[in-house]
Amino acid sequence: MPSPTSLGEFDLIQKYFTRAVTRAALGVGDDCALFAPRPGMQLAVSSDMLVEGRHFLSTVLPERLGHKALAVNLSDLAACGAQPVAFTLALALPRVDEVFLAGFSRGLLALADAHGCELIGGDTTQGPLNICITVFGELPAGTALLRSGAQANDDIYVSGTVGDARLALEVFRGTLDVQGADFNTVRLAMECPQPRVALGLALRNVASGAIDVSDGLLGDLKHILRRSNVGATVNVDSVPRSQVLRALPTALQREFTLAGGDDYELVFTAAPNRASQVQAAAQQAGVAVTRIGQTQALPGLNLIDAAGRKVETNFGSFDHFKT
Ligand code: ADP
Ligand code: MG
Repeated sequence: MPSPTSLGEFDLIQKYFTRAVTRAALGVGDDCALFAPRPGMQLAVSSDMLVEGRHFLSTVLPERLGHKALAVNLSDLAACGAQPVAFTLALALPRVDEVFLAGFSRGLLALADAHGCELIGGDTTQGPLNICITVFGELPAGTALLRSGAQANDDIYVSGTVGDARLALEVFRGTLDVQGADFNTVRLAMECPQPRVALGLALRNVASGAIDVSDGLLGDLKHILRRSNVGATVNVDSVPRSQVLRALPTALQREFTLAGGDDYELVFTAAPNRASQVQAAAQQAGVAVTRIGQTQALPGLNLIDAAGRKVETNFGSFDHFKT
C-alpha cells in the first residue's frame, strides 16, 4: 500500500517528467505524442533499456543514471549521424522515491536540453528498476551513416579514448585498485558517457560506415566488417587510452581498450582521401579522433602491435546471453 503522502503515478509524471514541448506538436499527457520530421528529413529511431545490476550498479547517483539512460540512446543517433529531436521514457520503479526521481529527472533532462531532445511521452509502472528510452532523431533522407557502408582500404578511426568504463567496473568489482582523482576520472567515463552527437553530424558525407562502441571496440568493429563485407587490420597499440589506463599492465590495457565495452565512442571508416575532412569534423565536434587501422578486401580481423607483429587475443565482446 502506498503511504497517503506518496505521489501517485500521474502526479509523479506531472512533477518529474512533464514539460512544455517546443518542437513536437503534442507532448506528455494524451494517449499519443505528436510530432513530424521536417520536410525532406528521415526519422532515425532507436531504443535502449537499462536494467539494474545488468547495466548499472545500485551505487550510481540517480542524476548520473538519468544522464546515462539518455546518453546511451543519443549515442545510437550519433552513430547514424542523426540530430536528436525527441524521446520517450518507459520506467519501472520499485517505489516512489522522490530523492531518486528528483536526481534522475535532473540528470536526464539536463542532457536532453543540452541536445535539444524533448521528452514527449512514456509509461510508468511499479516493478524492479528498469529504464527504457526510445529516441527519435532526424537527418536528410539518405544521409544516415550505416554499418554497411565501409569500403576496402578505408581508414578506421575511433573517437576519444576507450577502456576507462571497464576499468571503473573492475574497481567496483574489486579486481583492481584505483583511487582518488584517477578513480573519479574512470568512474565518470562509466557513469556519465558523453554521446558523440556533434561528431556524428559532422561525419555525415565524410565517413563511409559507423557504429558506437557499447559492447567493446573489436566486437562492434566486427559488426561494420560483417555488414560491409570487408576485413581489417588494427594496430592495438594505436587505440587511444587515458593516462589512468596507461598505468596498467599492457595486457589489461589491451583487454579494456579492445573489449571493455560501455565506451560510447564512435568507430567509423572513411576513404583515405577524406583524412583531412575527418580531422576537420573532429575539430568542429571538439573531440579527438585517432586512426587505428584500415579495412581490406580479404575478410577477417588482424591485430598487430606497433612493431607490426601479429597479436593474439582470446577475449570476445560483451554478450548478454553468453556472460
Ligand atoms: P496510457 O495509459 O494511455 O498509455 P499513461 O496513463 O500510461 O497513458 O500515461 C499518461 C501520459 O503520461 C501519456 O501521455 C504518457 O506518454 C505520459 N507518460 C507516462 N509515463 C511517462 C514517463 N515516465 N515519462 C514521460 N511521459 C510519461
Ligand atoms: Mg500507459
